Amino acid sequence: MTLFDDLRDCCRPNVPLAPLTWFHLGGPARWLIEPRDEPQLITVLHRAREAGLPVRFLGLGANVLVRDAGVDGAVIRLAAPAFQQLEWTTDGARVGAGVHLTKLVRACVHAGRAGLEVIAGIPGTVGGGIRMNCGGRFGQMSDSIRRVRLIDRDGRVVERRRDELGFGYRKSQLGDAMVVSAEIELRPTDSRALVERFKEIWLAKSRSQPALEQQSAGCIFKNPDPQRFAGRLIDECGLKGRRIGAAEVSPIHANFIVAHPGGRAADVIALIEHVEEQVYSRTGVRLEREVEVW
Ligand SMILES: Cc1cc2nc3c(=O)[nH]c(=O)nc-3n(C[C@H](O)[C@H](O)[C@H](O)COP(=O)(O)OP(=O)(O)OC[C@H]3O[C@@H](n4cnc5c(N)ncnc54)[C@H](O)[C@@H]3O)c2cc1C
Repeated sequence: MTLFDDLRDCCRPNVPLAPLTWFHLGGPARWLIEPRDEPQLITVLHRAREAGLPVRFLGLGANVLVRDAGVDGAVIRLAAPAFQQLEWTTDGARVGAGVHLTKLVRACVHAGRAGLEVIAGIPGTVGGGIRMNCGGRFGQMSDSIRRVRLIDRDGRVVERRRDELGFGYRKSQLGDAMVVSAEIELRPTDSRALVERFKEIWLAKSRSQPALEQQSAGCIFKNPDPQRFAGRLIDECGLKGRRIGAAEVSPIHANFIVAHPGGRAADVIALIEHVEEQVYSRTGVRLEREVEVW
């Protein structure tokens, strides 16, 4: 009898994670868990806690690099229909944490509801976007968050307002809780003007980075401060185009590392460490990672 024998519909052992991340690299999860709904998520969390099994949450894997050895624990994904709802309210929307950001942003733009267009072109899910407070020079996810519904590791449901979530530059303070849904604030606006604004932001983003289809995790490092960009520092150290194995510092945007076909997560990790060392020895700046290495 194994830990999740009676939950085989949602818990699968030894599942490769590479196809579930944007980098398309790394080994399997000891357990991949895709709960049907909130009660089943709570059951799984209780079971993992009792067994002392480490748990991680995965969205679209757009900010995660999984090591070649994989994850010796449970990885939970909110891929089931129960976590994909999008329901309009008078001044916003209620969305499930598994909803893809690109789909949500487009739906808001086409409905003439402004706010989330500032994150156009950023891949991920609502849960991962909140956790990372994703964004860029046009704005960030937290600007549109009113309230978040969370389930903590003990299976307790809690609701938090935006000002209780500790949002900052590419961070939040959710503790060890999983986002299951969120209430978003949106402003009704002229839909044609909003479509134009969306296109402008989307184009600006796609021109400044490698193609979305390339294997990457977006920016590898946080900017040391608002005036000092990590990409510029890496570029000034002459590291654009630097390669280790199949991993390359993008010639288009120095804060992106792209993995070419046939690579391993170890190549990317070695290149991240190389960039960290080079930037520190040449500029004295210790770069902080934005990407999570699992
Ligand atoms: C081509 C490309 C461009 C990018 N551009 C940008 C950009 O401009 N700005 C930017 O900020 N980011 C950017 N990123 C990074 C990425 O898109 C964001 O960090 C995004 O928020 C990740 O969402 P995700 O669902 O894929 O999260 P994942 O990568 O799956 O997970 C990221 C973190 O969120 C946690 N998490 C996931 N789901 C949940 C949940 N339901 N509850 C609690 N925690 C959860 C994970 O445990 C992990 O800690 C880019 C990535 C790529 C590949």
